[in-house]
Amino acid sequence: MAAVRELADSMSGAIYLPADEGYDAARKVWNGMIDKRPAMVAACSSPADVQHCVTFARERNLLLAVKGGGHSYPGKSTCDNGMMIDLSPMHAVAIDTRASAATVQGGALLGHLDTASLAQGLVTTAGIVSHTGVGGFTLGGGMGRLDRRIGLAIDNLLSATVVTADGQVRHASDDENPDLFWALRGGGGNFGVVTEFVYRLHPFDDNVYAGNIQYPIEQARHMMTVFAELEQTMPDAVNVEPYLYVADGQRMFGFAILYAGAPEDGERVLQPLLAAKKPEFNSMKPDTYSRWQTNADEYLGHGKLNYLKSGFIVELTPSFIDAFVGNYEGDELPNVWYQHLGGATSRIAGDATAYAHRDVRFNLGIDAVFTDAAETEARINSVRRYHQAMEPYMKGYYTNLNEEGAEKTWGNYGPNYPRLSEVKARYDGENLFRLNANIMPAA
Ligand SMILES: Cc1cc2nc3c(=O)[nH]c(=O)nc-3n(C[C@H](O)[C@H](O)[C@H](O)COP(=O)(O)OP(=O)(O)OC[C@H]3O[C@@H](n4cnc5c(N)ncnc54)[C@H](O)[C@@H]3O)c2cc1C
Repeated sequence: MAAVRELADSMSGAIYLPADEGYDAARKVWNGMIDKRPAMVAACSSPADVQHCVTFARERNLLLAVKGGGHSYPGKSTCDNGMMIDLSPMHAVAIDTRASAATVQGGALLGHLDTASLAQGLVTTAGIVSHTGVGGFTLGGGMGRLDRRIGLAIDNLLSATVVTADGQVRHASDDENPDLFWALRGGGGNFGVVTEFVYRLHPFDDNVYAGNIQYPIEQARHMMTVFAELEQTMPDAVNVEPYLYVADGQRMFGFAILYAGAPEDGERVLQPLLAAKKPEFNSMKPDTYSRWQTNADEYLGHGKLNYLKSGFIVELTPSFIDAFVGNYEGDELPNVWYQHLGGATSRIAGDATAYAHRDVRFNLGIDAVFTDAAETEARINSVRRYHQAMEPYMKGYYTNLNEEGAEKTWGNYGPNYPRLSEVKARYDGENLFRLNANIMPAA
């Protein structure tokens, strides 16, 4: 207890113990399915706080969880009995318009980054829900509606400041600790606590062309076949996300579309897809990117029960399309959606960063979002069933979404794993940072 008091005295942020007021709020993470009770939550408000906490946990062999935005589906940012470092007080964003760069603290949310940069007519790739943390999002890769145009979040990362397992603050960039910088870009939270990210920003006009088009489920095969053909030559500014869901007992199929450029160009570029078959519902119109970046915030809000599996898709072949539609049958069905990759994400070598999946065109997500705990088993089974049916068409998965064992993690990083494992041994040989897609330190 004296040691905890000493730690608390050394910090500018607060420590919450189970008996403290505020503990329950502090231990919460986004997914309502996760209900863990750390022995302490350390709300860090400076890199020095993080250093103290990392040292405290290492010296006492405490299980250590690091929470950025708390959006890990399997709840990797909390733990029972150990310490949770909560980075949420560290959410400042500074925009340097001259250098076209954003300096972002490790506990900021994507909304903090988007809001600050878009206000200056600048942008970098951020995900589709604004209350997601920059931390976990970036370290796993970072996909968003602009990734085909300007690359993943890691492709725009200029540098990072990290508190490593020895309690030291290290800078990582192409020039400083380049091995660490390589590993951070896709290797997740394995290498330390990132207290600051610096991203490259791109000039950007918030006015875009966007909306949804929907068809009866019977048209899904046809429209996916048309899309598969057109998609091959679509410009990088186009982001198209097919989806399947159930509304009022009806199976629905649609495309969520965003053209990140002048609305009149978007209308022209997307005309072949829009004209292929008259949609039953069409909300395509000039819109703003900033509105799209928050329009799923409420549906995917904090505290709901969430279960998800995903996998990467290299090509929309006829047999894949058949399986995608044909398996969407039964009483209990999950949501199925895509994230559009390719473009700039594919023009980077597979070994240039730790993120190894440069050859895929889509991330296929399968999830259940619900509020009644009595539905848990049926909802989880619906996700697993559809995922199992689609797995033969998948090539690896996004470590930011799936919860998989050590062997699958190894395979998923492919030829990048041995190098990751060596970097892990150099910076975290005792595997202090293990609540993540865990890389084992090389022997
Ligand atoms: C609603 C929702 C929408 C999403 N949309 C997208 C999307 O559009 N694109 C996309 O690519 N992904 C998306 N994701 C997945 C997302 O990238 C991961 O859930 C990611 O882990 C979230 O980061 P976080 O900081 O909020 O998570 P946390 O739960 O806080 O952390 C996740 C992991 O990252 C580690 N970590 C977090 N911050 C740091 C840090 N600063 N330093 C070191 N380690 C850290 C944690 O220890 C943990 O292992 C979404 C997830 C959700 C729940």
